Amino acid sequence: MSLTNPKVLIIEDEPSQIALLRYNFAQQGFEVRIATDGEEGVLAAKEDPPDLILLDWMLPSLPGIEVCRQLRRHKKTREIPIIMLTARSEERDKIRGLDVGADDYVTKPYSVKELIARARAALRRPTASVTENLLTVGVVEVNLEQHIVRCNQTLLQISPTEFRLLVTLLQSPQRVFSRDQLLDMVWGITADLDTRTVDVHIGRLRRALETAGGKGLIRTVRGFGYAIEPA
Ligand code: CA
Repeated sequence: MSLTNPKVLIIEDEPSQIALLRYNFAQQGFEVRIATDGEEGVLAAKEDPPDLILLDWMLPSLPGIEVCRQLRRHKKTREIPIIMLTARSEERDKIRGLDVGADDYVTKPYSVKELIARARAALRRPTASVTENLLTVGVVEVNLEQHIVRCNQTLLQISPTEFRLLVTLLQSPQRVFSRDQLLDMVWGITADLDTRTVDVHIGRLRRALETAGGKGLIRTVRGFGYAIEPA
């Protein structure tokens, strides 16, 4: 993404952290906005969606993980890259953060230089393009209105569930979705299904894509979930 002055929303409550981040991101040409608690952060993101969000884990009024969950559910903020900042270093927290849709995770104390590099990487993440109900990612083209999927111009025969699964993955290329997250997004929150259901449908989707020359499009992230990897 060739954004000259990308907008970053920093949701953080510690004044020293805010000062540090504000100064360094502004130095790097970012347009910086600050929200000092979770609810304010959600509102600010919805009101004027930024290009990137830095989100603290421990926040007043609404924890970072809940902020992330809410942003992912809202149409206007669903696609914004989110980097979670946290003082905790346990692996399971990282998994939880990714599970609710954070794109990356940085543990405090972090190097600002590294954080800026990660921020730039998050902004460069490929995006899906949608024009006139046509969602295109690499060689895959989906007609959202007619429910038609083409891979390398070849028409794919897939079920409605696999269609929804594919569209969910395609809308955020390279974002890793956990099985639980996919169950929630594709089958609905009330679905009391085994996460293996996801694996079964991913398997079918993969075979359909492979027969049309789309091998390796769906990446398995071991022990976690799946992501689309456009060539
Ligand atoms: Ca905090």
